[in-house]
Amino acid sequence: MRFLVTGGAGFIGAALVNRLLAEGHEVRVLDDLSAGDPSRLHADVSFARGDVNDIPKLWTLLQGVECVYHLAARVSVPESMLYPREYNAVNVGGTVAVLEAMRDAGVRRVVFTSSGAVYGEQRQQPLHEDMLPDPRSPYAVSKLAAEGYLRVMGARWDIETVSLRIFNAYGVGQPLPSAYPPVIPSFLRHALRGGSLIVNGDGTQTRDYVYIDDVVAALVAAATAPNVDQKVINVGSGAETSVNALVEAISAVLGKPIAPLYVPSGDAGVSRMCADLRRAAALLGYAPKVGLTEGLALMLERDPRFAFAAR
Ligand code: NAD
Repeated sequence: MRFLVTGGAGFIGAALVNRLLAEGHEVRVLDDLSAGDPSRLHADVSFARGDVNDIPKLWTLLQGVECVYHLAARVSVPESMLYPREYNAVNVGGTVAVLEAMRDAGVRRVVFTSSGAVYGEQRQQPLHEDMLPDPRSPYAVSKLAAEGYLRVMGARWDIETVSLRIFNAYGVGQPLPSAYPPVIPSFLRHALRGGSLIVNGDGTQTRDYVYIDDVVAALVAAATAPNVDQKVINVGSGAETSVNALVEAISAVLGKPIAPLYVPSGDAGVSRMCADLRRAAALLGYAPKVGLTEGLALMLERDPRFAFAAR
C-alpha cells in the first residue's frame, strides 16, 4: 500500500514509518520538524518538510495514497494550557485540512492518533469508549474536537475514519525535551545519574503506559481492519500503574534502590487512567505484548542514551 504519515518524523510516527517500510509499503511523510527529527527515518522514506495546514502540499502528497496516518500535532498537556490557540490551529485545524485534502485527492481512509486524555476524570476504571469524555486541557479538547470532525466530515465526504485513543506511549527513541519531558525517559535519566525522582503529589496518580511496539501494531492493523469506520478505539496496555509503582519498577530494572522525592503539586493531572481494551481486541485483534518491566528493560538495553549509562 501507499501511505502518507503526517507527523511521521516524531516519536510514534518514525516507529510507524519504519515498520511500514519494513513490511514493503511505500511511505511519504509530511512533518514541519517542530518536534520531529528526520534522521529517525529510513532512507527509503519520501520526506517533505511542511505544515499540516498546507492544503496544496497535502493534496500533492496524497496523489495515489490509499491511507493517511494523521499524527501531526502539538502534544504537551501543560504546554497546551499556555498556548490553546496554537493547539487548536494545529490539532483541530490541521485535521480539517487533512480531511479536505483527502476529499479532493480521493483518499479512502484516515487513521488518527487521538488520546486517552479525552476521558479526563471518570468515576470508573478502566476507561471505555462509550464513556462521556471530560477533557481537562486544550490538548484533550483539541483531540476530542478532531475526533468529531473526522466523524462528521468523514461521513459527509465518504472517507473512512478511525480514531485510536492512545494512552501513555513510551519506548526506545522517545524524545526527552527539556521543556515538558515525558515521565519515563525523564525518570530513567535521573535514576541513571543517581538523582532523585521528583514525584508531583503523593505518587498515587495512575497512568496506562503502553510500549511503542504495541502502539505501532495497533496503528498497522487500523489501516486495513474492516468495521472500524467512524470508530474510536482505545490503545493502551490495560495495566494501571501508579507513579510510585513506576519508581519501584525502575528501581527493580536498574537493580538499585531509588527514593522518590515528593513535592506538593498544584496539578498532578488526571488522577487515574487505565484503558479498557475490549474494543481494540475485537476490531483490531489487538493484544499488548510488552509489559512495563520488559519495556523499561528494552529501553535500557537498546536506547543509546540509556544503554551506555546502564552498563
Ligand atoms: P511527537 O511530538 O514526537 O510527534 C508529533 C510530530 O508532529 C512531530 O514530528 C512534529 O514535528 C510534527 N508536527 C507538529 N506540528 C506540526 C505541523 N503544524 N505540521 C506538520 N507537522 C507537525 O509526538 P508523538 O508522541 O510521536 O505523538 C504522535 C501523535 O500521537 C500525536 O498526534 C499525539 O497527540 C498522539 N498521541 C501520543 C501519545 C504519546 O503518549 N506519545 C499519546 C496519545 C496520543
